[in-house]
Amino acid sequence: NLIYIEKAMDSQPHHELHVIFLPYPTPGHMNPMIDTARLFARHGVSVTIITTPANALPFQKAIDCDFTRGYHIRTQLVTFPAAEVGLPEGVENIKDSTSMELFYRIASGISKLKDQIKLLFQDLHPDCIVSDMCYPWTVESASELGIPRIFFYSSSYLSDCATHSILRHRPHEGLVSDTDKFTIPGFPHGIEMTRLQLPEWERITNEISGFFVPMFESESRSYGALYNSFDELESEYKQVHKSIVGIKSWSIGPVSAWVNKDDGPKVNRGQKEDLKEEPECLTWLNTKQDESVLYVSFGSLTRLSHAQLVELAHGLEHCGHNFIWVIRKKEGSENEDSFLQEFEEKMKESKKGFIIWNWAPQLLILNHPAIGGIVTHCGWNSILESLSAGLPMITWPMFAEQFYNERLLVDVLKVGVPVGVKENKFWASKDMAHVVGREEIAKAVVQLMEKEEGRETRRRARKLCDASKKTIEKGGDSYNNLMQLIDDLKSLKISKAHSRSRLDG
Ligand code: UDP
Repeated sequence: NLIYIEKAMDSQPHHELHVIFLPYPTPGHMNPMIDTARLFARHGVSVTIITTPANALPFQKAIDCDFTRGYHIRTQLVTFPAAEVGLPEGVENIKDSTSMELFYRIASGISKLKDQIKLLFQDLHPDCIVSDMCYPWTVESASELGIPRIFFYSSSYLSDCATHSILRHRPHEGLVSDTDKFTIPGFPHGIEMTRLQLPEWERITNEISGFFVPMFESESRSYGALYNSFDELESEYKQVHKSIVGIKSWSIGPVSAWVNKDDGPKVNRGQKEDLKEEPECLTWLNTKQDESVLYVSFGSLTRLSHAQLVELAHGLEHCGHNFIWVIRKKEGSENEDSFLQEFEEKMKESKKGFIIWNWAPQLLILNHPAIGGIVTHCGWNSILESLSAGLPMITWPMFAEQFYNERLLVDVLKVGVPVGVKENKFWASKDMAHVVGREEIAKAVVQLMEKEEGRETRRRARKLCDASKKTIEKGGDSYNNLMQLIDDLKSLKISKAHSRSRLDG
């Protein structure tokens, strides 16, 4: 490794800005950070991405390809302590957790990488660290090295501001019931939530708060924050962010659309094996009319309970529209398989639905003309990817900040039809989440796909799609913001070099 590092350092001109990217190994965090790292490299920055071997696999080809094209970008691997945390080789990403037990083991393995990473920070002599929010300790590392730390947040400005506002003002305390509404303090729109829709660690102070609170606190101790967002989506919340968090921020999204602009979407993104040239789901989509199919996905982490899978299957079967549904299984669900197998067979015969097991080529699906809308868990990347394809959404948040994102889609941007979820619950929690019934699901689908209101929703999504394309063009806001950030970092490097040479002289 050290020989490699020396070589890498030799090949790096002294005037060049060297930025380290430290992603957290879960697709919702990694995808936007890798895209951002590649954008930095395309604009003249020397980039090192630190990750583990299994986590590098899904994007290594893209990085090698960028490198061959002359960009200074490389991956630096650290060893995942699989044996130490009792995991088989290659299980290194949060998305591999099929149970709470596995989730804790993987998270523990990731936290044990700290010492290796800190050594690399020293060896690689970066000019800046772009750190995922989940590593609050990088504030101290950057400060020891005398370089800026940039907080990389992989969701919306609105959700970050909501978390800060709720932690500070605790507006949900003192309400009579968990389902009473309160308004988020300091927001330009009267955004209403209930206590049940907040992540548990925000609702009450618990063990998990000890993990999350330092992350959010570390944001205001950073040089600045990077957001995969754009002005037409939430410029008002960028202002709120400035007043609540008090640091500079740059919105440079949508990064996925930007980095794939010239190449077309990457087929193999997020999975280890390359897909065939044309995945079967696309061949199936080719037989469908434009805008006639719903894409149903709950992101990279969520696995639904059997009761919920059954309701969703019935809801989709009877909603009157075609669908593609990605199903991720949980541990111990083998006995429940026969229902889904029969359902899959039935859908194959009627040609009404297509089931994808485990992992979908989401970017390819969303950009297919037959797709007319998405049922989404409101993960920020899925939202941006849908809007970049001009698609309206049925919102079905599950956990974490997804309920805040739902409010942005439904109340502010008006590009989402809510299915009506009431409770924020991690899929692997001990007690089961409330089950959304088949009628509620079918009702939301009809509203989106058939009603006048749905047409308006679609029109607004298309408008945002146009804006998302303009903002990443030369001269667009996101484009300018990225250039501004790179210039800021270069000036900082130059002024530090000047003051050092004054001291030496
Ligand atoms: N994704 C995918 N195929 C899947 C599930 C997810 O490619 O079957 C990608 C998706 O395109 C997005 C990311 O994984 O880039 C998921 O991030 P998001 O913020 O939407 O949700 P999370 O998985 O973090 O809940």
